[in-house]
Amino acid sequence: MKRFALIGNPNCGKTTLFNGLTGSNAHVGNWPGVTADSREGICKKGKESVTIVDLPGIYSLSPYTPEEIVSRNYILDEKPDCVINIIDATNLERNLYLTTQVMEIDVPIIIALNMIDEVERAGDKIDVKKLEEKLNLPVVAISALKENGIVELIDRAIETSEKRRRGTSVLFESKIGHLIRDVRIALEGQGVENPLFHAVKLVELDEIEVKMHQTTTKMVEEFKSVFADELFGSDFEALIADGRYKYITSNYSLAVSKKRADVSALTKSDKIDKVLTHKIWGIPLFLGILLAIFHLTFSENFLFLGGLIKDSAVSFEGSKYFEGLFYDGAINSPGVILQNFVVGITDFLTATIERAMDGSAEWAKGLVCDGILGGIFAVISFIPQILLLLLFFAILEDSGYMARVAFILDKIFRRFGLSGRAFMPMIMGFGCSVPAMINTRTLSDEEERIATLRVIPFFSCGAKLPILTAIAGGIVMRFGVGNADLITYGMYLLGVVTAIVSVIVMRETTMRGDIPSFIMELPTYRRPQAKSLMHLLFDKAKHFIEKAFTIILASTIVIWFVSHFTFDWKYLVDERMDESILAGIGKLIQPLATPMGFGSQLKGMGWVFVVTAITGLIAKENVIATLSTLAACLIVGFEGDEEGVRSVVIMIEQTGITIPALISFIVFNMTTIPCFAAVATAKAEFKGNKKRFNLTLLFWIGTSYFVSTMVYLVGTFVWTIAIFLAIFIGFFTFVYFRNKREKLAKLGKK
Ligand code: GDP
Ligand code: MG
Repeated sequence: MKRFALIGNPNCGKTTLFNGLTGSNAHVGNWPGVTADSREGICKKGKESVTIVDLPGIYSLSPYTPEEIVSRNYILDEKPDCVINIIDATNLERNLYLTTQVMEIDVPIIIALNMIDEVERAGDKIDVKKLEEKLNLPVVAISALKENGIVELIDRAIETSEKRRRGTSVLFESKIGHLIRDVRIALEGQGVENPLFHAVKLVELDEIEVKMHQTTTKMVEEFKSVFADELFGSDFEALIADGRYKYITSNYSLAVSKKRADVSALTKSDKIDKVLTHKIWGIPLFLGILLAIFHLTFSENFLFLGGLIKDSAVSFEGSKYFEGLFYDGAINSPGVILQNFVVGITDFLTATIERAMDGSAEWAKGLVCDGILGGIFAVISFIPQILLLLLFFAILEDSGYMARVAFILDKIFRRFGLSGRAFMPMIMGFGCSVPAMINTRTLSDEEERIATLRVIPFFSCGAKLPILTAIAGGIVMRFGVGNADLITYGMYLLGVVTAIVSVIVMRETTMRGDIPSFIMELPTYRRPQAKSLMHLLFDKAKHFIEKAFTIILASTIVIWFVSHFTFDWKYLVDERMDESILAGIGKLIQPLATPMGFGSQLKGMGWVFVVTAITGLIAKENVIATLSTLAACLIVGFEGDEEGVRSVVIMIEQTGITIPALISFIVFNMTTIPCFAAVATAKAEFKGNKKRFNLTLLFWIGTSYFVSTMVYLVGTFVWTIAIFLAIFIGFFTFVYFRNKREKLAKLGKK
């Protein structure tokens, strides 16, 4: 089967095209650097089936970044049958810069002129025939998003791949055209593949090339020493870049006719950016947007209308069909309404199954109703809120806003040894740590990459969300304090702050290094696409439901058995769970959790929390699933309504756990060793560096223990805040003075 490689600038729509061609569902995001590694799929839309490879986005073929190396090596070494060079038509000149390099390789090329829908919408025109003539390459105008023109593209790519193609260069017409031709002939004589491409790179004195072709390098250097200054100046790299751009503007740009001077469109986006990326207001604005999102997803007092309705003597309470819409006289947020809807269904199912099992053995009923259904439904009831939150994040990302946030954060991060670029994989961590960890490959500095990878789990993922929501809901319901949305929001922020502080500590101690310069351009604002958002939600929902009926199902069954049998395998009725195998093991470790508030101080019941946290190592959903399974057993005659929140309330009543300890429990689960899948990914990303991996595990345990203890202690004995402040102030003072001394030392050397 033929292999076609997609190549193009970051954010030009490669992945969208890849998805359209292959029918797969890879992550599309409106910020440069989403695709960190290459990906393959099969396209059956053309006259014959072909393999499509999606390569990371790049601006040029000089191997400076990991993406450039991956893409360049793929084309040079793997020799695809055709290169599909995607070009963002709204940004033609910059995109063609890469094209002028790719065309120097001896490979069939076809140009996919993407985003043609946007060009048309703006009222501009691109003369495809003219561009084709000038480039001497086939050009097909497409819209990857609307899937217009992609069948034609693939059919023409198939035709193109049938003819061999010899590289050409736009530089032939420039001052150094001769030199390039001479070097090419020399390389050809040595039997080098792709002589023209290597010739240009040699003239640029590209490091890798110089190492590969020592003798020819000498020739170039001689030539340069003869003619250098008088003829060209000495910076050949700049000379070549300049040559490419000059050629592009004088030849290719003719193909574009703009509607008018395109000033107004530019200023509109600039105006928005002035507000969104404001020096001072940028971050508060971001925090405000996040707060609004959490409010929409978790609040039981939507828009704070509660007071209003209470005063106005209008009451919706008691209307059976609308119960899910209201809570305590207030209106629920959309997220909570959706959740209540799902809970209505699961409650009905539980009741039905329970009735059907009337008359079967007590233990079987317990296993099915309390154990399995209790656990699984507790997780499923949170799916609407998980999806809603992820939807909001996806909208922020797709619109191009998240890239702006990275841009603002860069200024702050930079002082602490981190570039804003590192923020993007972190943000992906809100969805799932696994792809986020893989995305760290786009960071060029290895130390920065490792530091970032380590803190990704602190960005609370979808699977951890039930822990936050259930416990926040439990706190509100049992103690009547605070709002569930504010608590959840606070927890997310605490995770982010923990991540940032940990990165700073790492970068200032064991993982020092230079800060890579941040060369991320701001993507254009785009309206998020309903289709890709729906795809995302569908995918995520499928993922969580599949997990509920596999890993979580299996875990709850195991948990139910070990909590209902003694070590000598005697069946225990629910209320004697305290004598079970699970309790026995839990009680052994329970003292360890005492500093965090959920250990020995809980009437001998701390083991419940310890055990649930451990089941979270398999999948984070297990924490609430296990808690619900155990809660369902604790209360005799407790029927239906095993949703997560109520289980937490039961646990609070049974154990006497305090609010600070509950918060500390959330923090512990959020920052400790992530789930099995994330750990495996991290291990793979360390590429066999065992020591680094083990240190990372230690780091996760250590951080979670430290932060949870801090939260519990400060929440319980306010004065302990002094201790932690002293620790932090001490550390930052040390860093400050050390950095100052080093700066002075550097200056002294100069
Ligand atoms: P990649 O970084 O090159 O893989 O680009 P993506 O496929 O992730 O797309 C970047 C952004 O461009 C996303 O917001 C897409 O929705 C958007 N996009 C891709 N193709 C088109 C298109 O043909 N028309 C429009 N209007 N937007 C597109
Ligand atoms: Mg991509």
